[in-house]
Amino acid sequence: MKFNLMSMSNAKLDKDGICSINLPPKLSCPFAGECKAYCFACTGPQSWRGAKQIRLNNLELWENNPEQYEKFVIEDIHKAGRLVNRWNDSGDIVSTEYLKMMIRVANHYPDRHFYTYTKSIPFILKIGWENLPSNLKIIQSYGGTADHLIDESKPFAKIFKTEEEIPKDWTNATHSDLEAATSGTKIGIMAHGARKSKFKG
Ligand code: SF4
Repeated sequence: MKFNLMSMSNAKLDKDGICSINLPPKLSCPFAGECKAYCFACTGPQSWRGAKQIRLNNLELWENNPEQYEKFVIEDIHKAGRLVNRWNDSGDIVSTEYLKMMIRVANHYPDRHFYTYTKSIPFILKIGWENLPSNLKIIQSYGGTADHLIDESKPFAKIFKTEEEIPKDWTNATHSDLEAATSGTKIGIMAHGARKSKFKG
């Protein structure tokens, strides 16, 4: 199946029937902080030439023609037909306008579920938690420059050096995102890949 923007190449997501629309790491991460040192999307499949190009093209289209970008997103979600859809297996919410677009897409598909991990907490606060649709789950992710704004009464995620360090009553999203995407509130993920050694914990 040919998509305009969407990727199906993330094995961890694909095995759970999750598809994703992605942006390039770092370039589209306005609040990236220490995470840049151990960014999982900067190595491995998301960084391979084809995957990297899709992500760069997506950002370019968003910046130059956001209306077309939104139309393509809506088309791709219909084509993919997945119940759970992730924003940004790499990259982040690049602006408040991008978040507003994500909200419109969620409202367009009330019977589907959307989620994202983000360090762009200031954009969430600008829109207001109360204005997010119930089918768009925002998981605040530690490791950015706005960590002090994270509200732990809402979903949040932390990286751990080993799986054993993830508290037992947290959702462990190391091998599957499904529970984190839908119901988990405290989410732990083990650092992985070539950059694991850069994670200080
Ligand atoms: S915000 Fe995510 S994608 Fe962006 S640099 Fe940090 S870890 Fe990588």
